Amino acid sequence: MKAINVHAFGGPETCIIDDVEIPEPAAGEARVKVAFAGVNFIDVYMRNGTYARSHTYKTPLPMVIGMEASGTVDAIGEGVTDLRVGQRVAFCLLRGSYAEFVAVPAWKLVPVPDDVPLEIAAALMLQGCTAHYLSHSAFPLQKGQSCLVHAGAGGVGQLLIQLAKNLGATVFTTVSTQEKVEIARNRGADHCILYRDVDFREELMKLTSGKGVDVVYDSVGKTTIMSSIRCVRRRGLCVLFGASSGVVDAIEPLSLAEAGSVFFTRPHLADYMATADEIRGRAGDLFRLMKEKLLSVAIDTVFPLADAASAHRYIEGGKTRGKLLLKIEP
Ligand code: NDP
Repeated sequence: MKAINVHAFGGPETCIIDDVEIPEPAAGEARVKVAFAGVNFIDVYMRNGTYARSHTYKTPLPMVIGMEASGTVDAIGEGVTDLRVGQRVAFCLLRGSYAEFVAVPAWKLVPVPDDVPLEIAAALMLQGCTAHYLSHSAFPLQKGQSCLVHAGAGGVGQLLIQLAKNLGATVFTTVSTQEKVEIARNRGADHCILYRDVDFREELMKLTSGKGVDVVYDSVGKTTIMSSIRCVRRRGLCVLFGASSGVVDAIEPLSLAEAGSVFFTRPHLADYMATADEIRGRAGDLFRLMKEKLLSVAIDTVFPLADAASAHRYIEGGKTRGKLLLKIEP
């Protein structure tokens, strides 16, 4: 089968289309014929070696990258009783989705309702479940609370703004351009801060009369984190969940005290998608919200599988205004 198989850590040009063996589903697994694979910022870290020393994201080379997809069940391993061949499914996994076929543990597969297109299901799994766990579990937002969402026009950002608004929160967001202000505003953001024109912390403090927000969701990392911590209200929470501008490798504990006894967490999606019930619960909520028109998913661009390198250049260039997908030709 065709797959994007990375042989050496490096730039987008290492996204090479290769012939690899079609995986056989082991006991407890199902094989999925992939229709759409989602492209996420984390795929960049897997590809360029940022996570080469991480125990969580084991990165053996060569490796087929890609952490989410949708498609149809194509073969079923021993002991799998709740799935059938031909069933439409979506999933997140550690790697392997930039491919024509993937073997996936059955408990990680989410049945996709008939009225949800497969491209939407692929677009919702990783970024949608991330936005869901951030707003419902890492810091369960309540009516009347406030949050700051960085990169509000990005993939996770657009979904997180919508979920936070559905929960009744006031949403502040940072974006780089006026075009992105419009996108974030259309998703429901109450206040958009053009962080290239103004100091985002000063602006947020002005807008909150010096109080700060209950929670900051920071996906940008290196260039924002120290100011993000100081945007949090006394005893609020700073959630660092990404590294779009670079990895944060140290936080001085005293900086949390000085910011007002702020709590700090660095969550990982897999810990919030730890059981079949949790995965299906989060995905089910997202599908329901879509049906009720309380959540929209923007597909930015669909690239052919062979052009994964262009998708990587696009996301690394900060150009995303929604979801990037790879289409796998039937
Ligand atoms: P996005 O679509 O949000 O793209 C990244 C955005 O970050 C850009 O569009 C840009 O928006 C902003 N940005 C700021 N500085 C930079 C920079 N130096 N280079 C590039 N972009 C920059 O990506 P995703 O929605 O896929 O992911 C967002 C983050 O969340 C990633 O870091 C990802 O790894 C992380 N993540 C973490 C998870 C977890 O569980 N911990 C799970 C899923 C994602 P602007 O132009 O407005 O600045």
